[in-house]
Amino acid sequence: MKKLMAANWKMYKTGAEAAETVKEMAALLNGTAPEGREIVVFVPFTALERASVAMTAVKGASTGAENVYPAAEGAFTGEISPAMIRACGASWVLTGHSERRHILGESDAFVGEKTAFALSSGLRVMLCIGETLEERESGLLRNVLERQLRLGLKNVPADTPVEALAIAYEPVWAIGTGKTATTEDIVETHAICRELMRDILGARADETPLLYGGSVKPANAGSILALDNVDGVLVGGASLKADSFTQIINA
Ligand code: PEP
Repeated sequence: MKKLMAANWKMYKTGAEAAETVKEMAALLNGTAPEGREIVVFVPFTALERASVAMTAVKGASTGAENVYPAAEGAFTGEISPAMIRACGASWVLTGHSERRHILGESDAFVGEKTAFALSSGLRVMLCIGETLEERESGLLRNVLERQLRLGLKNVPADTPVEALAIAYEPVWAIGTGKTATTEDIVETHAICRELMRDILGARADETPLLYGGSVKPANAGSILALDNVDGVLVGGASLKADSFTQIINA
């Protein structure tokens, strides 16, 4: 399985800025993802079309939206449908990012609705899961991951192509804080996630990429990518600059 190198640009960059960063990435990568790597950059809706056009200059790379509404169209002011995302030239969407769960109040059930609807609409989905520090310290790690995975993957269409789904484990306490989980934490938690994925997804679980996210940077990406059950990384802050994200892609 290729390692999936994902960037999350959150609420940063206008269309022009996003296109410029993608152009810089294309130059640094000589127009292609390195051997054994696939790249996806999640960008704000307003930058999606320009970033997607610019990304056609990088073989093995694509773009994604950071959110989606689970309906084809309708009276949902301010929301964006899967077809609108695809029309921008993007092929992926993030669901369940901790900032949407904890700042915007999205429930596990709503995340599951989005995941299933986006998949049935032909988008590839990266479902994010992860515990807060309080949950970890109260011994609730496994319960939280199990609940987020079961509800997040509920109603995934049976005919979903294997390459359409990825899971990103991101401990909330390690996102944007500079605190990376220890090697032992990552190995232990990814093993739990993989076991739960096997129980929920059956045979396809081992072919479904499981990414780590949380303060990944050029200095730690290589050692994280070498760990058991780590099939890629999801990078926030350190993906905003082409140079830094390219170093991570090449790690
Ligand atoms: C993220 O936004 O998914 C993330 C992991 O952020 P950071 O790399 O900045 O911790």
